[in-house]
Amino acid sequence: MADAPESEAKPNTQALDDAMRGAVAGACAGLLLGAVEACWIVLNTRDLFELGLLVWGPFLTASLCALLGIAVGVIAGRFGASPAGAAMGALFFAAGPTLARYRVLIDFKTAIERDAVSHGSIFLASLVAGLALGAVGWVLASRLSRGRLVAFASFFAVAILGFGWLASSPQTPRVYDGVRKVETANLSKRNALHGVERPDIILIVADTLRADFLSSYDARSPARTTAIDALAADGIRFPHACAQSSWTKPSFATLITGLHPRTHTAASKTAVLPSEITTLGEALRDAGYYTVGTSNANPNNASWANFDQGFTEWYDFYPGFAWWDVPWSTTHTIVYQRVVERLMRIGNGYRVHHFYQPADDITNWALRWLGEWKRPQNVPLFLSLHYMDPHQPHLGGREVGPMLNRTWRMTGDDMPTLETMLEGYAGDIEAMDRGLEKLFEGLRQLGIYDDAIVVFTSDHGQEFLEHESWGHGESLYAEQLNVPLIVKLPQARAAGSTPQTLARQLDVAATVLELAGVEVPEAMQGIALLAPSGEVASPGAAHCFASLEREEIRAEAVQNREATFIESVVDGPNPAPTSEFFDLARDPLQQENLTGRGDPREAALARILGERVAEVDATRLEKSQVELDAGLEAQLRALGYVE
Ligand SMILES: [Zn+2]
Repeated sequence: MADAPESEAKPNTQALDDAMRGAVAGACAGLLLGAVEACWIVLNTRDLFELGLLVWGPFLTASLCALLGIAVGVIAGRFGASPAGAAMGALFFAAGPTLARYRVLIDFKTAIERDAVSHGSIFLASLVAGLALGAVGWVLASRLSRGRLVAFASFFAVAILGFGWLASSPQTPRVYDGVRKVETANLSKRNALHGVERPDIILIVADTLRADFLSSYDARSPARTTAIDALAADGIRFPHACAQSSWTKPSFATLITGLHPRTHTAASKTAVLPSEITTLGEALRDAGYYTVGTSNANPNNASWANFDQGFTEWYDFYPGFAWWDVPWSTTHTIVYQRVVERLMRIGNGYRVHHFYQPADDITNWALRWLGEWKRPQNVPLFLSLHYMDPHQPHLGGREVGPMLNRTWRMTGDDMPTLETMLEGYAGDIEAMDRGLEKLFEGLRQLGIYDDAIVVFTSDHGQEFLEHESWGHGESLYAEQLNVPLIVKLPQARAAGSTPQTLARQLDVAATVLELAGVEVPEAMQGIALLAPSGEVASPGAAHCFASLEREEIRAEAVQNREATFIESVVDGPNPAPTSEFFDLARDPLQQENLTGRGDPREAALARILGERVAEVDATRLEKSQVELDAGLEAQLRALGYVE
């Protein structure tokens, strides 16, 4: 009886000791595996501008493996096996192959899709490697005394974390500031050649903004947009503006090149903007402008896709991640993608910074840049700002909270109601409007606003179940093509006018160049809509012609003020083209397909569509593309572009 308390206490102490040994051995295994993965990612990812993952990768993997090691250690102890040996052996055996397999599947995706590497061989190789690693781990860790185990873990921790800190600190941090490129060569020489005084130009592109969600465009708009409305009152608002495609890459490219998507060919996930194009940035830079461009965490208009062409300074803004401001590079790791992201989903703990930089931050950045006055004296400025707030996921303008993402919640009980989606979208637009209010106020205080040309537009709209889908980039209906276009001229010339011209995205570059007094490159397909006085310079195009040439979908649409004709082909067992014809006077929301009912306007639009395709294809450039790496894939997935 006297022995009873002791024999009860002993197993408890023993279990604690086993747990500790398991945790330390697990952490050692995790540190090693995390370090190997981090180095692998660094060697295999393009444009990895900060190396925070050399610290965070091993730390996250070690933390997870330490937790698993506790469980293995306690169980092994019960069966009389070495807790440390079992933990390290089991983790090397289980985590090693899992990690290797995940990296191979992600990093050699193209080879796997081409069947150059088979799933079976990856599985077999990782199993063999796991068994070997596991055996080594078991033998190694079970021979170590407790003291040596702790010393070993400490050495690993100090060596790996220390190395990571040293390696990452020179570039550290700011995820927020992104990649910066400055090309000042020949700038002063160029300026000396152009003595003409030209206005500053601020181009503001709101991603995914439909025109009817601005109160100046539609009185019934669910969003109140006082700052954008005030800009419209100071400027010229085009009530009939249309995009030439329905997702960022082709639309944005059209905006900055004045070329149709079928001509510039930057229209698929892997396509990049061909460098032989003279972009708006290049034309302005060559005319003496200091050009500064930004892409806000949307890989579709970032520097890797050559959208920095023509900019003296370029900034790719990256998302900022997780609870402790984990740097962007860390999001490439398996533990982040498989564990941390899932935990965030369960907890609804998403911050807007996980996806893009919100309006307030873009505005603060722009005003800081302008306030520091980095450009040379007496040189006109072209500043292109990219606001992402209306893009999915929709957070309703909140900094933190539950969010709606097209690819994450599309089925069953998880499907949000239409009302929730619209509220989320409208809230995000209002958040952007507040950010723009601050921008315009800041521009006034800096003395820039009055003399500058300010252009506000969007790359494409967004569908909310009007045609049985949610999002953009998969069809060419009005809700995705009707975008806002507002041009404020110096001294608010022609303020408040609303030309009835059909204004295409295609026309923006030529219009800006005309207003700046810069010659429009001959190859540009768009036309200048305004004269510098603010008067309408052209009756505009008769039709709005848009196209989609994505991986799985091809579609063309031609629209005038009366009707729309759409022809689309979706890859599948029966890739036959589908025609749709809508009478916009009776059916502005394009709900009733009247194709084949003999309306003569359908045949006329179909003919025009054929002519327009032939016309732009005659100037089609050779397609330029690169392979996506895992980082870009992850970013595209977060924004709903990849399932
Ligand atoms: Zn977009």
